[in-house]
Amino acid sequence: MDCELITIGDELLLGFTIDTNAVHIARTLAELGIRITRRATVGDTPSEIIDAVQAALARTGAVLTTGGLGPTADDRTHESLALAFGRELALHEAGRAALAERWQQRFGRSMPESNVRQFMLPAGAEILTNRHGSAPGIWLEDAHGRFVATMPGVPREMRGLLAEEIVPRLQARAAARGDVPTVVRSRTLRTTGISESACADRLDEFRRAVHDVPLSYLPGLDGVDLRLTLDGVSASEADARLDAAAATVRARVGDWIYGEGEADLAALVLELLRAHGHTIAVAESCTGGLLGGRLTAIPGSSAQVLGGIIAYDNRIKIEQLGVSGALLAEHGAVSEPVARAMATSVRARFGADVGVGITGIAGPSGGSEAKPVGTVWVAVDVAGAVHAVKPVLPGDRGEIRHRATQIALDRLRRVYARSADTPGWTVTAEPASR
Ligand code: ATP
Ligand code: MG
Repeated sequence: MDCELITIGDELLLGFTIDTNAVHIARTLAELGIRITRRATVGDTPSEIIDAVQAALARTGAVLTTGGLGPTADDRTHESLALAFGRELALHEAGRAALAERWQQRFGRSMPESNVRQFMLPAGAEILTNRHGSAPGIWLEDAHGRFVATMPGVPREMRGLLAEEIVPRLQARAAARGDVPTVVRSRTLRTTGISESACADRLDEFRRAVHDVPLSYLPGLDGVDLRLTLDGVSASEADARLDAAAATVRARVGDWIYGEGEADLAALVLELLRAHGHTIAVAESCTGGLLGGRLTAIPGSSAQVLGGIIAYDNRIKIEQLGVSGALLAEHGAVSEPVARAMATSVRARFGADVGVGITGIAGPSGGSEAKPVGTVWVAVDVAGAVHAVKPVLPGDRGEIRHRATQIALDRLRRVYARSADTPGWTVTAEPASR
């Protein structure tokens, strides 16, 4: 079954409010196999609401709206629908009385007069009870079975009304039409350390679709997520085809994949540490504690994480980590020897199995031709074997700092997985003897 969504509100058009309602509704309906074929946003202006609703009714005949149900003068959705359907606007007495009673029970006083306005509804509308707020939604249907269902704008109220009142009605309609239950399912493979274009190159003939399963590339701060999505098929077919497509993607870029769905690389690294019975300590310069923050954000991390030092100033690198002043003077703070010294020293000083050192130029100033903004040295010392990498990271200060933590975590993942190194980075490894 197809439907259309219209989100209503001036503040949505102005960009003051992010349209999270549309996202929630799309995801909820997708899981039920109901497709949103078109989405529109209009302001709180009756003519705009009427236009959008009439066009959607003519196309799809199934329309959901959010917003503009409240008691104030700028909430005009229901009066617009009355006009769009050519119905009178009339007081829905039963709805008014029910809310008045709830109000009395809850607050021990009578409902404010302004709330009555919310029950001025198009004739023939069925009330969708809002158990999470005062403004009711409605289901309004014409003689041809075409309908509009309205929900409040407030996200919590919208979610409640959608789940409790609208989803059951949509499911009943789909069943009555004899629709075969279908689903929209997706599988997300999370990569890091590889660019979108390099991913596409490696996927070669599968770059747009894998065994007819469409593939999208979603670059973000953690890396490029590869999302496979199937739409309009049965659940069992979707699962089987997604499995096959995911296996093909893994065969091509598996080396960069660290997890699926919402997987967090910090959580994965903690699992690896736990599996090896290892503890970790971090020495952070340009990331200022972000790596320690990501690790300790994971519940149960205290069994593996011993602590860290934010060695931002060179004096702290010298005094707290024992990095030699001569090393700093010779190579500069952002250098391979300093990153290595930080990793090895924090490991030794904390008595950890694993030490991490991060030093880099997060910008926006401080870059040079030899060391541009985004240059980061990351070293990991795992039981005496030290690996160092020098990516040059894109983005602003915040992005560079986050990406540096992701690279440190990925480096650890790779050490434990004994995985091949990432092309394009300077990677050096040496045994425990140093
Ligand atoms: P109320 O009864 O509270 O007035 P309403 O149905 O009239 O509810 P609006 O006045 O349109 O809804 O919006 C109320 C609030 O809900 C807005 O201030 C905004 O914060 C939020 N909101 C509205 N529409 C959306 C949307 N599409 N996505 C996310 N939030 C929204
Ligand atoms: Mg309102």
